[in-house]
Amino acid sequence: MGTKKEVDDRFKKFGTVSFTSITKTNDFIDYLENGKVMATKCQDCGKIFFPPRSDCYQCLTSNMEWNEISGPGKLVTYSKLEYAPIGFQDDVPYRIALLDYGDYKVFGRIAKDVPEEDIKIGMKLKTAVNQLPNGQLNYVFEKV
Ligand SMILES: [Zn+2]
Repeated sequence: MGTKKEVDDRFKKFGTVSFTSITKTNDFIDYLENGKVMATKCQDCGKIFFPPRSDCYQCLTSNMEWNEISGPGKLVTYSKLEYAPIGFQDDVPYRIALLDYGDYKVFGRIAKDVPEEDIKIGMKLKTAVNQLPNGQLNYVFEKV
């Protein structure tokens, strides 16, 4: 399926972006610690960015506000990864997915406790903060 390829490539990009384009990275982490996954929203045109960006490529301004990613999104596509980039080998297999929130889309992983047979394209999943065994924070997609 062509869509799988697209998600794979974009996820790799997401993993290496590491939020270098935002100046308020620590705010993003603070929000995670408070159980919130945040995007940024352009106050000029209303476009929502995830991963968060500090500037809007449409308006060429930096008039951003934080905007929580809450509630369910719709599963557009997902892919199970059997191998991983260096540093992520212990995590495989895992499932990367794309959720459609209407105005924007969010890439991420489906939580490990969601059974494979329950995953259906078009199903509702929510974006939730997840604490890793080493204390690091990320987010995963969980059943609603
Ligand atoms: Zn804008």
